[in-house]
Amino acid sequence: MKKTLFDKVWDSHVVDTVPNGPQILYIDKHLIHEVTSPQAFNELEQRNIPLFRPDQVVATADHNVPTENQHLPIADALSKNQVEQLTKNCEKHGVTLYGLGHKYQGIVHVMAPELGITQPGMTMVCGDSHTSTHGAFGTIAFGIGTSQVAQVFASQCLLLQKPKSLRVNVNGKLAKGVLPKDVILYIISKIGTNAGTGYFCEYAGNVFEEMSMEGRMTVCNMSIEMGARGGMIAPDETTFEYVKGKEFAPKGEEFDKKVAYWKTLPTDEGAVFDKEYSFDAEDIAPMVTYGTNPGMGIKVSGHIPADIKDASFEKSLQYMGFEKGESLLDKAVNYVFIGSCTNSRIEDFRIVADYIKGKQKAENVNALIVPGSQQVAKQIREEGLTEVFEAAGFKIRQPGCSACLGMNEDKVPAGEYCVSTSNRNFEGRQGPGARTILASPLMAAATAVNGKITDITKQLN
Ligand code: SF4
Repeated sequence: MKKTLFDKVWDSHVVDTVPNGPQILYIDKHLIHEVTSPQAFNELEQRNIPLFRPDQVVATADHNVPTENQHLPIADALSKNQVEQLTKNCEKHGVTLYGLGHKYQGIVHVMAPELGITQPGMTMVCGDSHTSTHGAFGTIAFGIGTSQVAQVFASQCLLLQKPKSLRVNVNGKLAKGVLPKDVILYIISKIGTNAGTGYFCEYAGNVFEEMSMEGRMTVCNMSIEMGARGGMIAPDETTFEYVKGKEFAPKGEEFDKKVAYWKTLPTDEGAVFDKEYSFDAEDIAPMVTYGTNPGMGIKVSGHIPADIKDASFEKSLQYMGFEKGESLLDKAVNYVFIGSCTNSRIEDFRIVADYIKGKQKAENVNALIVPGSQQVAKQIREEGLTEVFEAAGFKIRQPGCSACLGMNEDKVPAGEYCVSTSNRNFEGRQGPGARTILASPLMAAATAVNGKITDITKQLN
């Protein structure tokens, strides 16, 4: 029987099947952070259940960490309490923690892949929806709720109904200035934020095959924004090369054995998906969102739809201060955020540095560069990018979720526009009343330099 990549990884992790019901799936890696783990640890303790496999759990602090003066005590009481609670719980239950001050600390979806914790063919979970990021390695990775975090703590397994399969194909040649972020924003703008509900998505086609691992992570990260449980890309030489030599990756003969297995994972020719979409790379352009969900996106050279009559659409435009039929080109923007688990890897910052080298940010713009992890921050310093960003007037912050969400000091003021490389543009996501426009790192950099939304393709030779 022909199998999909998803089927192969799923089936190899099934521990048991309830007749005509859900299946029990073994989980290889459980990632945790300070926001969603405390309740699950409490549940374990209340029920007097030990943590079953502490070695399979890895923790970091990311959401509530300050991104300035990380050496000082955290000023916000709630954030301080959550980070301290995580430290205590990890000590008590024998879980490895890359907490504040550790050289591996970072956003959970940035630090795990760069350490080789994420590997092809695994099942991975985290109490965080953007766990889908790890699917870039051909991994079944998805976010879980607090009670499921407790379930995995207690059994290293989850009781699950197998999702349906979806494939999104993109073939052709991307234009210069079109980044992986544009590809996923384009897909979501075409199929909507509910198209993936109940499905696990595989991305296929030469566009994904030719992408770097960083780019694939950006794409899989936003699978959740189209409603999918997760996204996956078949592992290939690019994947093996990325994993090779990473701190926790298998070494020597063990690595070769793994690669031989990983090579068997791609979807069989002729395997059938429950739903399939196909797009031409040539139709994709740099994207911007204009509304309050990630599906409300247009090409930067396009216009906000004029013909939609829907109360939530109108409300969304009202919140954003935009009109139907309007173009976003040349809109003044005062905040730019380049970071988050979608776009805070070294490749993102290299692209940004390449563009802004020798340029200055516009005077009115507050531009933040926030590396996704301590390792990325170190690479930025070592590659001399710090000087480029500072000379251009960008502020470099310390690793964490930062202005992706309003849970730390990096908030966007009410009514202000922020071009953000993150993944969510809901009302108040970056602070009460903040107006978020999602875009690629290159579009964000161009906005910072010009002080207004710019079509990057017009600036590249
Ligand atoms: S960067 Fe944003 S989306 Fe990613 S884990 Fe942090 S808060 Fe969530």
